[in-house]
Amino acid sequence: MPHDAARNKSWLRFHRIAAYSLLICVLVVAGAYGWRTLGQLRNGISDASGIEIESSDPQLFVLEYQRLRTSLARYVAGDPVVDHDTVVMLFDILWGRCETMQQGSFYGVLRDTIEVHNIARDILAVLHKTEDAVFELERDDRETAHAILAKLEPFDRRFTEYLIEFAGHRFGWMQEYRAGLARMVEKIDTLGPAILAPALALLTLLVFEARQARRAEAFVREREEESRYLACHDSLTGLANRVYLNRKLGEVLAAAARSGSDVALFALDLDGFKRVNDTFGHEMGDRLLGVVARRLSGLLGPNGLVARLGGDEFAVLMPDSANRERENVLALRIIASLEQPVMLDGRDLHVSTSIGIARFPQDADNVAELLGHADVALYAAKGEGKRTFCRFDRSMGEKIVRQKLVERGLRAALAADALEVHYQPQIRVADNVIIGVEALCRWRDPELGNVPPDEFIAVAEETGLILDVGRWVLAEVASTMASWPEALAGLEVAVNFSPVQFLFQDVCADLLEVADTHGLDLRRITLEITEGAMMRDTERTMDQLRNLREHGVDVAIDDFGKGYSSLSYLRKFPLNQLKIDRSFVQGIERDAEARAVIRGILGLASSLGLETVAEGVEDLAQLAFLRDERCTVAQGYLFSRPVPNEQLLDLIDCANKVPDGAAMVGSGI
Ligand code: C2E
Ligand code: MG
Ligand code: MG
Repeated sequence: MPHDAARNKSWLRFHRIAAYSLLICVLVVAGAYGWRTLGQLRNGISDASGIEIESSDPQLFVLEYQRLRTSLARYVAGDPVVDHDTVVMLFDILWGRCETMQQGSFYGVLRDTIEVHNIARDILAVLHKTEDAVFELERDDRETAHAILAKLEPFDRRFTEYLIEFAGHRFGWMQEYRAGLARMVEKIDTLGPAILAPALALLTLLVFEARQARRAEAFVREREEESRYLACHDSLTGLANRVYLNRKLGEVLAAAARSGSDVALFALDLDGFKRVNDTFGHEMGDRLLGVVARRLSGLLGPNGLVARLGGDEFAVLMPDSANRERENVLALRIIASLEQPVMLDGRDLHVSTSIGIARFPQDADNVAELLGHADVALYAAKGEGKRTFCRFDRSMGEKIVRQKLVERGLRAALAADALEVHYQPQIRVADNVIIGVEALCRWRDPELGNVPPDEFIAVAEETGLILDVGRWVLAEVASTMASWPEALAGLEVAVNFSPVQFLFQDVCADLLEVADTHGLDLRRITLEITEGAMMRDTERTMDQLRNLREHGVDVAIDDFGKGYSSLSYLRKFPLNQLKIDRSFVQGIERDAEARAVIRGILGLASSLGLETVAEGVEDLAQLAFLRDERCTVAQGYLFSRPVPNEQLLDLIDCANKVPDGAAMVGSGI
């Protein structure tokens, strides 16, 4: 298609050039022809005036002849007005005229036909003969005068005949010239349309071209405006985009710096948007963003600006914000408005928003800083449990910067497959035998060094990266287990799962897939979840746990006693194990309350038929207490720190050879 369009275009261009060339040629030819005709006309006119002038010569000739004759006659007749000098002068004039008439000219050709020069020649002959007589002629010498006049007399008749003939010729010439001129005028008359027609065509073509050019220009202008609009606006929501916001912020801050006014920037992020996208698809997510954009625009006055920065991130700019109270009210109204469910295709979609607010000039003195600090405040708002807003505070900076670094590093580590899994043995308290391990994720960043899991798991949960981390850990554990020797076939592995995974993933489907890929027996897996997972979306979590239990997966509640410890979910959820939080274990020796809690948990577990694992066992006294209280499994530095797979294999090998394995394993502390 573009090929055809190009061919059409060049065809059109060729024809246009051809039309122009043809018209210009016609115009040039017509112009040249017109110029030539006008030249001919001019020559004709000048010829006609030449004939007029020249045709007066013979008349003057006759006149001068007659004046000589008359003056001669009057001279000898004694006329005092005519003296001898006059006669001589008139004689000379006639002489000169005769010579001129004889020499001939362009018009002499004409005169030749009537033989005027013959007359001139003959008169000149008479003048030659009478020259002396005329010059010496006395006033009373009538005889000589009559003799001279007699010699001239025959010319009277010849002159008369000549004048008659000349008049006839002159008339003929004039007729001829008039006809010639008429022909030229006719030519000029036809020349008019000949020049006018191509000129008009050329003009029409030019007008047409000008219109085309104007249209093309309008089209290009429209496209330019369109691309300028697209460059500054988000195509999905029609809101300003990041580029435009940055530019606008630059202008607004410069104006605020001049006028001394304040500027507020809100950074917004939707909570739960990913879930909508994952559950209902991106098309639904996009429509939801459109509704959010409309609600935000509706809440803001004409002076404010709403921008979409990408994904589910928005920004609200209040250029002249004198009053923090108004900002708070707006933030609360935004939170309330976005919390309202969005009805799409008969479904109620729920999202909420967290807002970070930074102000100019109090919190930042340039665009980048203001954007960065609003983002920092947003991060803090999310950390405070979402659905809230937070103002930037200088103390937030470092923590958030660290979180951002961790997030960036973790993404890179996932992409580079640079995470690791360490394994910490779990010991059966009754006989100190290693019956299982807990898989714990490890990450060493090239810049940040060893980042503790508590830190990066929290960031991963915050950013959604936990889904990838979880999948990676599971696959890694499964492939490691597949590599273990036959002797370890009974070793159970506890894997930590985040509540976020239960909310946004089908944990059971993931586990089944991994088990299938690596030939893993799911009965060897214990899934550790914290109490938080039970509190959120209980139905969804419970369904998945039930599913998992049906496939033989054990379920343990991690860090039990630390959180809400609601007894109701202990009954409701299909559990196998309670892991007593290490804060209680570590308080065994000095804290009676801790001992009481442990006893309580152990009693509860035993009555519910659950196994108990004591975490963080660091010394023999703690182990002795746990054994006395009939805790089934212990895990802690007393036995081993979490170690890489190869070390774990050595450690198990070693423990199996020594009768009191725990003491041996625990030698590392
Ligand atoms: P957790 O699941 O309660 O894991 C036990 C934590 O206690 C581990 O910390 C372990 O190193 C530590 N620990 C074990 N024995 C002792 C001891 O005797 N003394 C002391 N002071 N600490 C002991 P770690 O490895 O730093 O992990 C921290 C938390 O990070 C874990 O707590 C778990 O909630 C989370 N985590 C680690 N790996 C993963 C993972 O792959 N997925 C998820 N979702 N969370 C993970
Ligand atoms: Mg755990
Ligand atoms: Mg724990």
